[in-house]
Amino acid sequence: MFRDGDAWNLVELKSATKAKPEHVTDAAIQTYVVEGTGLTVGKAFVGRLDKTYVYPGGDYDLDALFALDDVTDAVRDYLPAIPAKIADRKGMLGGPCPPDRIGKQCTSPSACGFFGHCHEFMPAFPVTELPYLSEKGLTALLDDERVPAQFGRPFRFIPATCSA
Ligand code: SF4
Repeated sequence: MFRDGDAWNLVELKSATKAKPEHVTDAAIQTYVVEGTGLTVGKAFVGRLDKTYVYPGGDYDLDALFALDDVTDAVRDYLPAIPAKIADRKGMLGGPCPPDRIGKQCTSPSACGFFGHCHEFMPAFPVTELPYLSEKGLTALLDDERVPAQFGRPFRFIPATCSA
């Protein structure tokens, strides 16, 4: 964040070369939180790597290395939807446990933040790392009692914090 008069401009910095829709929603959530503290967000940007940048040697010119896309209007459009989404997520957290198994949902469409926690007991050569394995195939292997434990069985995961 950086000051802009009485307001603050917010940069949602991404390791990407172009802004994606989920970057805008991330910036909107950051804006929602910042404005919830009483600060005013003037502009919201998605910061990304500028792929036209060519390193000339010497010190990095960070103003040239990063490009800022102004997503203020899209963020403002999204903000009214956030309270309902928070209520929805709170409802989800109070609801029943999700399926108690690791699987492709752990890495797709993006890596889950709990990946390390849920996979800490993984064997050295788990069946989850077999290439080109469909979700159906993975599920079949996880349920197949003939698969030795060192390849991934037993594979049931019961979240310690989920008691429903
Ligand atoms: S919470 Fe655990 S099992 Fe569920 S998607 Fe994330 S890593 Fe996978």
